Amino acid sequence: MARAIRVGGCVIRLLQGDITACRTDAIVNAANSTLMGGGGVDGAIHRAGGPAIAEECARIPAGPGGRCPPGRAVATGAGKLGARFVIHAVGPVWRGGGEGEEAILADAYRNALLRAVEKDCASVAFPAIATGAYRFPMESAARIAAATVKNFLAERRAPREVLFVLFSAEDLAVYERILEPLAQNPPTE
Ligand code: ADP
Repeated sequence: MARAIRVGGCVIRLLQGDITACRTDAIVNAANSTLMGGGGVDGAIHRAGGPAIAEECARIPAGPGGRCPPGRAVATGAGKLGARFVIHAVGPVWRGGGEGEEAILADAYRNALLRAVEKDCASVAFPAIATGAYRFPMESAARIAAATVKNFLAERRAPREVLFVLFSAEDLAVYERILEPLAQNPPTE
């Protein structure tokens, strides 16, 4: 099964584990619009990174949709994490699929990648945004994540390495299955 694929001189890799342990240039947080922390991966990132991340989030001005409306992404420092930046990306709450959830999820991935490129990040780790508390179905979320990242890398040729970090073996298996047909040119290392 596909654990890595090459796109435009870049590589997409799959990994199972805790994203807070990643030493990539940026770690993407599945945040909520307030950027004031929450459960799941958001809670884990703030716990491991310490209060500096929330302090920086609090200084971001809040608009009508919050500090970071669904589909958008903002970068902060990463506190005590091994990464240089946390990119807070906000997915859609799943409401059955009729409220633009798929497009919003794709926007969240694209905007997170744009923030990573702006910060000159060579490597970025993504969790499965919106598939926890926000209840986006894993299979369809994985397809959107893979296609959006693949298209971005094909066009921009950056960041050089994108990791999808899945918390469970089941979620990893879903991503492996979805990446398989995209792996026409697997990396050799
Ligand atoms: P959302 O509110 O966007 O749904 P959640 O944090 O509830 O965000 O869940 C998003 C995904 O992150 C889920 O698939 C969940 O299993 C996963 N997850 C939770 N904690 C971690 C972690 N420490 N590292 C990687 N993935 C995690």
